[in-house]
Amino acid sequence: MKFSDPALPPPALRLRVDSAAIGENWRTLNRMSGKADAGAAVKADAYGLGLDRAMPALLEAGCRNFFVAHWCEVPAVLQHVTGTSVAVLHGPTSEADCAYARAVGVRPVLNSLAQVNAWQSTGGGPCDLMIDTGMNRLGLRAEELGDPALEGLDVEVLMSHLACADEDGPQSSQQLSRFRDVLGKVPHRRASLANSAGTALGADYAFDMTRPGLGLYGGVARPEQAEHIKQVVTPQAAIIQTRTVPAGETVGYGATYRAERDLPVAILSIGYADGYLRCWSGKGAFRYGEAVLPVLGRVSMDMTAIDISAAPQLAEGDWVDAEYDLVEASARTGLTQYELLTLSGPRLRG
Ligand SMILES: *Cc1c(COP(=O)(O)O)cnc(C)c1O
Repeated sequence: MKFSDPALPPPALRLRVDSAAIGENWRTLNRMSGKADAGAAVKADAYGLGLDRAMPALLEAGCRNFFVAHWCEVPAVLQHVTGTSVAVLHGPTSEADCAYARAVGVRPVLNSLAQVNAWQSTGGGPCDLMIDTGMNRLGLRAEELGDPALEGLDVEVLMSHLACADEDGPQSSQQLSRFRDVLGKVPHRRASLANSAGTALGADYAFDMTRPGLGLYGGVARPEQAEHIKQVVTPQAAIIQTRTVPAGETVGYGATYRAERDLPVAILSIGYADGYLRCWSGKGAFRYGEAVLPVLGRVSMDMTAIDISAAPQLAEGDWVDAEYDLVEASARTGLTQYELLTLSGPRLRG
């Protein structure tokens, strides 16, 4: 920005993030992890909430281990912690990745023999190692663990990832026993298996470190966690216009909503470009205090219309809160709680 640029007026939409709730959720998940330490998955800009909001809350609560997916996510995390507490889940796919990891002191998570070779041939050093115990996404198979490339590997965290921890079924316990089988085969300092849902599966799954993400940000990965996890995010938008829609007229694109009576309506400055997707059309609601204000017709790119019959005093400039209980929102929209968190657009994140 040039020094002469005038200051921007305040925005007309924002994502309210309850940082205290992030800290409480981490403490809850840390407690559910028993003797293990809970780390934190902060990939995708802390699941869309913003690292600058999440990191201070997590650090203050006591979290010391952080996971991102991409190398490009590292600098923002290093604004808050030193490299030794950060691991990069996708691992190194080039010499440049290896050099960068060493320069900033973060650990690559090695996910294949190719990555192990790349890391070792460029000098080795502390790393994490991912084992595939049945998800078939990333990680070495048990059969590959005899490979000479693994000799002398300096593994800080030996880990695997659960595919179905949020469901009941046989896969989690199969993955647990496969993970146990490899623990003795690869020297390591710490072991880690559980994501948010996995922390509810009991002490057997906790090992030395758990890696929750979703639960930190208010997602309920398993029903056991419902009463303990606090809601963290609330999209909020300002009213930019109010109007009375005459009986018989329609609202918005496609004219999908028709007023049966003269209806007081407010137009909000939030739309699908902000992550308030079209799947909320005719289904979502906003709140003003206790008053519930249903979404009318289709959500537009930058705007959403709501029925303000329950709070007719609302006027231009007033703010309302989207109903965003993640479990209920997921059931209503068909989106996962993960998607509902990570889809917030740049204008909403601010
Ligand atoms: C994203 C991720 C996590 C966190 O998972 P949640 O379900 O959000 O708790 C943990 N471990 C790995 C390897 C991941 O990719």
